[in-house]
Amino acid sequence: MDNFQDTPQLVPVFQDIENIIGKDTYDMWLRPAQFGYEGNILTISLPNQFWGKTIRERYEHIIKDAFLKHLGAEITIVYEVSVQEPAPAVQSAQDVIPATPTPTTTVIKKNSFPSRLNSAYMFDNFIESPSNRFAYKAAEAVVHKLGNRENNPLVIYSSPGLGKTHLLHAIGNQILKENPNAKVLYMSGEEFVSEYIEALQNKASESFRKKYRSLDCFLMDDIQFVAGKSASEVEFFYTFNALFESHKQIVLSSDRTPQQLELDERLSSRLLSGICVEVKRPNLETRIAILRQKRDSINFDIGDDVLAFIAEGVQTNIRELEGSLFRLVAYCGMHSVTPTISIAKELLADILVSDNDLSINVNTIKKIVGKHFNIKMEDFNSKRKTQSIAWPRQIAMFLTTELTDLSLPEIGREFNRDHSTVVHARDLVKEKIETDPFFAAEINQIILDIKAVDK
Ligand code: ADP
Ligand code: MG
Repeated sequence: MDNFQDTPQLVPVFQDIENIIGKDTYDMWLRPAQFGYEGNILTISLPNQFWGKTIRERYEHIIKDAFLKHLGAEITIVYEVSVQEPAPAVQSAQDVIPATPTPTTTVIKKNSFPSRLNSAYMFDNFIESPSNRFAYKAAEAVVHKLGNRENNPLVIYSSPGLGKTHLLHAIGNQILKENPNAKVLYMSGEEFVSEYIEALQNKASESFRKKYRSLDCFLMDDIQFVAGKSASEVEFFYTFNALFESHKQIVLSSDRTPQQLELDERLSSRLLSGICVEVKRPNLETRIAILRQKRDSINFDIGDDVLAFIAEGVQTNIRELEGSLFRLVAYCGMHSVTPTISIAKELLADILVSDNDLSINVNTIKKIVGKHFNIKMEDFNSKRKTQSIAWPRQIAMFLTTELTDLSLPEIGREFNRDHSTVVHARDLVKEKIETDPFFAAEINQIILDIKAVDK
């Protein structure tokens, strides 16, 4: 990291970026750059414009994410061609793409598999909670049953900022921890598409194919970027099939369900042949636990009351939740003040929400569970104890503990029962989910139906 003489605060940020994209890639594209950073503007000076184009297309989002994560800053990136090595005048996009591979391409070692894993994302520092339990368990299971038909492929989907990328890296890191010789590759859908296009331009599609098909575990993040890009999607389909048929593990993430991805039907049904799990929005308790963990990892003195205040105000996106904490820490560090609720309120006014109207409604839960088991709304609150009513009622209580922020006594009131009945119902249903995969799948489907109604 010798290109940060004037910006030492950027060293950990770029260290992280290097971990994510791998040392070879970092050496090739980012090591030659000089960086300037002022007022949330990162200036990247490069030997020629081709460099800038490649960084912009492939790595800009990773750089931006790293700045947000480490410095809580949403940056703008400006590219400059450095004066030391002026590039030939460039007129059009075609001029910037070399007709033949540049000599630097050969720097990448043949047969080497930089896994591109970020060692900051582990199972150890992923907070398990009701909102991510299915995904977390499935991710752990994959590590110990690589390529097993039951969990291949594993598809994890959620709206942004809820931990998909973290889980993908955690799977890869854990596999390598247990088997350092495994060939694991993490890649985003965007990178897959741009590498494929580049391979086509360089007439290197055969080596592109070979590289992917020799993996033990392929972790592809944000697969929505492949959907609908016909040539890349077809290539992905072949890669997928080759890996799948040789019992190699595939883990995919997406910002929507496979059915919503508008993929080729064959690919779509293959994706659904393994396990498909959603990561849901975390409840308040989980959000506080995540903030506590971040506070402890940066070792900054910030009270639980302030953390709870932030957790109340940032409900839908963990990246934003962390970003808010880092922003507050950066501000208080710079001004040498202790963080308080009122500072947080003022500083984070643009992102905090105070209302709780995002929660799923108990009536929706009753309606969908009632429909599924063919029982009436009033049966949920009645005293009837027949099993055909009691069991769906217990399921509805369990789902209310999972999907809403209501406390146990509040849930009890919603079902005309006391809180110990809710605890009993929750534990019974939980146990069945853990021991009966068919039941777990059924519950997962009911959750999807509830969420579809509650949008
Ligand atoms: P996504 O890929 O779904 O957009 P990320 O995996 O990038 O989300 O998560 C955003 C941030 O939130 C990351 O810094 C990640 O470490 C953190 N995060 C998400 N879920 C958890 C969790 N359950 N425990 C701890 N950190 C989490
Ligand atoms: Mg992600």
